[in-house]
Formats: sequence, structure tokens, C-alpha cells
Amino acid sequence: MAPRRKKIYEGKAKILYEGPEPGTLVQYFKDDATAGNGAKKDVIDGKGVLNNRLSEFFMTGLGQIGVPTHFIRRLNMREQLIRQVEIIPLEVIVRNYAAGSMSTRLGIEEGTQLPRPIVEFCYKDDKLNDPLVPEEYVVAFGWASQQDLDDIVALALRVNDFMSGVMLAVGIRLVDFKIEIGRIWDGDFHRLVVADEISPDSCRLWDIETGRKLDKDVFRRDLGSLADAYTEVARRLGVLPSNVTHRPKPTLIN
Ligand code: UDP
Repeated sequence: MAPRRKKIYEGKAKILYEGPEPGTLVQYFKDDATAGNGAKKDVIDGKGVLNNRLSEFFMTGLGQIGVPTHFIRRLNMREQLIRQVEIIPLEVIVRNYAAGSMSTRLGIEEGTQLPRPIVEFCYKDDKLNDPLVPEEYVVAFGWASQQDLDDIVALALRVNDFMSGVMLAVGIRLVDFKIEIGRIWDGDFHRLVVADEISPDSCRLWDIETGRKLDKDVFRRDLGSLADAYTEVARRLGVLPSNVTHRPKPTLIN
């Protein structure tokens, strides 16, 4: 039996537990999938294991090119050790092609290439449905300083270049993604790091050849097996050996 640990926070797809040392947390990836701010819910066998692996893969790669992240190391199939950060209450979205809420809002056909990557901010508040907010709100309401905001945009664009390249190399188009940014305090100063997770739950990933969706839209829009789509991403990236396919749990026969 695993030792009892103090739960710090439980979200829709992850749980945070107290870590083994001060300033660390254990991030546990659940199999739960939600969409439409919790309106649609399901348990997708194996999703947590895949996202734990994929987030490790992306965060490690970012670290290798000098983009700071909260990731320390993976602990087991579902858990990773992370730095404790103060989460900035923003969803930082980067878009390369129109899709989702941008297409709806502006009437741009999904898949239209944007003139340049666009960074936008949503205020993280489930009760308000994470509304899109202008940069001016971010500074005026004190969610982040102008300096933080400039650094966040620079970080987000570096993450975009890295993720776009990694995906392109395996025949996948990075349409858009969301990241969260955290502060790590050192006395009166802080530095910004990429936090939360980077996984097909928070990206739009389209197969370049066929247009097949390999991300959470498969669940949001009922397009088939989410676990198969995530397994395909993991397999192409070499995160899973190519002969491993997703198999449903064995069922007990009475
Ligand atoms: N996204 C996310 N969490 C959210 C909202 C959006 O991870 O709460 C991701 C989403 O998967 C997509 C990108 O951010 O990759 C842009 O999402 P969009 O604004 O188009 O919202 P949606 O159409 O998903 O409501």
C-alpha cells in the first residue's frame, strides 16, 4: 500500500500531493476526461499513463533547449515530481491555425493558417468559463506585471517553436495549445516556468497526411477512441515502443 500523503489540490485531470521535500509536489495523472468545463465526462482507460509520459517527454525536451519548466522527474506510471510554483491564473494559448473557439468567434474555417502565431490569454475561472481577456486586463487586475507578460509571451513562442518542430518531424501539425505558467520565488525575486502539463489534452494535433485528429477533440466531438489517438502520438514520438497498442483492461468473468 502506498503511504498516505497529503492531497494539496484535485483538478479535473490531475491530483497534486505534497512532495518528499519542501518546494516539491507529486503530480498524479487521472484517467478522467472532461470537456465543456465538466459538462461531458468519462473515464478513459490509460489516458493518465499516456499524458504522464508525454508531458515528461515535452517538458524534458524544453528543459534541454533552456526553457525552464516545473518538471523534475517521472516517479512511476502515473506520477511525476515537480517544483511547487505559484500558478498565474491564466491559460496561455498559442495558435498557428484557426480552430475551436477562434473559428467560432471569428468565423474562420478550422485549419486556416494564421499570418503568424497568435498568443492569447484566458482568465482561469471555471465559474466564468475561462473568459478570453485582453493583455491590458492582465496587468490592470494584477494577475501578472507587464514584465511577466512580456516574458510569458516570449516563453510561449519558444514552446510553440519547439512543439511545432517536434510534431512536424513525426507528421503531426500543431494547430494550437494551452500552457500554464508558474512563479518560483527566491527571496523578493521570481522566475517564470512552464507548469501544469503539456499533452494531447491541451493541444490540437492533426495528422498532416490525413487530417485525423489526435487530441482531446476526439473526446469533445465523439470522433472515436481517445486512448488510440494518444497512443498514436506517443508511438510516433518514440515514447512507447512501436509494438505496444492500447488494450482495454481485462474484465472479470464470474
Ligand atoms: N485548451 C485547454 N484547456 C482549456 C481550454 C482550451 O487545454 O480549458 C486548449 C485546447 O485543447 C486547444 C487550445 O487550448 O488546444 C485552444 O482552445 P480553444 O480556445 O479553441 O477552446 P475550445 O475550442 O477547446 O473550447
